[in-house]
Amino acid sequence: MELVLLCVTAAALGPWILMRGLGFFAHAIGTAAFPGLIAADALGITPQLGATLGAMGVAAGSGVVSPTARTGTRTALWLTGAMAVGALLASNISRPGAGVDSALFGSLLTSTPADLLTAAAAACLAVSAVRLGGPRWLSEGMLGRSWPFWNSALLGVVAIAVIAQLAAVGALLASTLLVLPAAAARPWATTIRRWGSVTGGFALLISLVGLTASLSFDTPPGATIALAAGLAVVGSLVTRSASRSISTAPLGKGAAVAMTLGALILSTVGCAQATNPPVVATTPIIGSITQQVAGNDIRVKTLIPAGADPHSYEPRPSDIDALSTARLLVRSGPSMDDWATRVEERSGGNATILDLAAELPINRTDVEFKGTDPHWFHDPRNIAAAAVTIGKALSDIDPSHAPSYRARANRLARTAANLDRQARECTSRLASSERNLVTDHDAFGYLADRLELRIIGTLIPSQSTAAAPSPRELDRLAKEIRSLGVKAIFPERAVDPRLTANLARQTGASSKQQLDADTLGPAGSRKGTWQGMWSNNVETLVSALSGGRVTCALTQNGGGSR
Ligand SMILES: [Zn+2]
Repeated sequence: MELVLLCVTAAALGPWILMRGLGFFAHAIGTAAFPGLIAADALGITPQLGATLGAMGVAAGSGVVSPTARTGTRTALWLTGAMAVGALLASNISRPGAGVDSALFGSLLTSTPADLLTAAAAACLAVSAVRLGGPRWLSEGMLGRSWPFWNSALLGVVAIAVIAQLAAVGALLASTLLVLPAAAARPWATTIRRWGSVTGGFALLISLVGLTASLSFDTPPGATIALAAGLAVVGSLVTRSASRSISTAPLGKGAAVAMTLGALILSTVGCAQATNPPVVATTPIIGSITQQVAGNDIRVKTLIPAGADPHSYEPRPSDIDALSTARLLVRSGPSMDDWATRVEERSGGNATILDLAAELPINRTDVEFKGTDPHWFHDPRNIAAAAVTIGKALSDIDPSHAPSYRARANRLARTAANLDRQARECTSRLASSERNLVTDHDAFGYLADRLELRIIGTLIPSQSTAAAPSPRELDRLAKEIRSLGVKAIFPERAVDPRLTANLARQTGASSKQQLDADTLGPAGSRKGTWQGMWSNNVETLVSALSGGRVTCALTQNGGGSR
């Protein structure tokens, strides 16, 4: 529905954007809206308002003069500035979570009624603006008359149309549906009215093919639609030149080719509709503990694949599908999988949502950060509590197996307590000078607290992975690492390892050993379960911090230190 409205906007405005050379301007508005989106995310105002404020800067800077006259350079200048402000805001004031990623790439799967309303308003505005302003824009091109008010109005309407698309396709792809369908339609249109309707057709086809491909290949919809739009332009130009050379009915042939392609992709959907598991978990860690409590009595589906970063995950169509029939959704909690509740709402299902973070004994807060540290699963006492909570929730939806769920939950709780005891025994053998820890995102506060280690710095001083360190911060950290004689710094698997490698080179500390923060290894490997991942983290930490002096081997039923 939202896409149809966006297509109407595209049909009305697309040709004008191309005729006036505003493609770059449209893209620039999307980019300019980026800092506004980030600020909106941090301040808790609606994204559209934030985006509008951001985009107004560029519109004001490049648009008040005639849009045909060398606006390119000026627009480039403004948008570079906007991007820089956005990046600064993203690394400093953004709250933990996937705000930055959804601002850049959008998410059709989690759009709200407000987004729909904005799209509808933009479509109405675009159609009426073209009705009123069209003749004047045309006469300027032909008669050389200038209409400054109407030119600014065109820029304004284009800006609003771009902002209306942000929620669906994000800042980086914002001009996708606005510009590319018109470009694809251009070879087939002889009049501007015809151009408009062919554009609308292409926009609809592109959205349909993009959405369908997204469903069948399980890729993020925004990016898939952008790809479909690019292919449509190329396909349109190729078929047009081919049909010109053999001079047959051009439009019919082009449409036929496009329809065939669309039908091919459509036909791949509808296959492979397996029955969905009744229990869904968001992250691999949550999936691991839920599956262990569920045993063979109930199937659990984990949405995020092993190795992926939950902070910047974009939901897939298969996630919506899984949640539409699920009875229980087990999520990690705020700042880790915030998208989960929105996906659940969109799925139309009625799964009970179990937010584990709300039910834990140990909650870590730090004045340096806003809110609670979401990495609670690095404290085994929390895992024990979570297992019991999951056992109760499973018993609620499947009372006949309640005793088994309780037994397995208690067993996992005992295992967690056992690993906890072994780890504390082992780390007690570290000297005080060996207890300083540097990691690359702030995920290990719970682990450090429990094992009495000191985190002297993090490369990414925010609990999200979506922020970058400042040079001064890096410099301060390098000095501290040298002065404390820290032997090892720990890159984390889901984060760019070059940052840590650089710091290690500067300070002479080792950075070869990796910790797992938010995810697990492949299924079947040691780190494919929470126990294996956590034990491996502890063993890696102890051995690297002591330069190999202390080693320990954690086992699920006993073990100890050597
Ligand atoms: Zn994290």
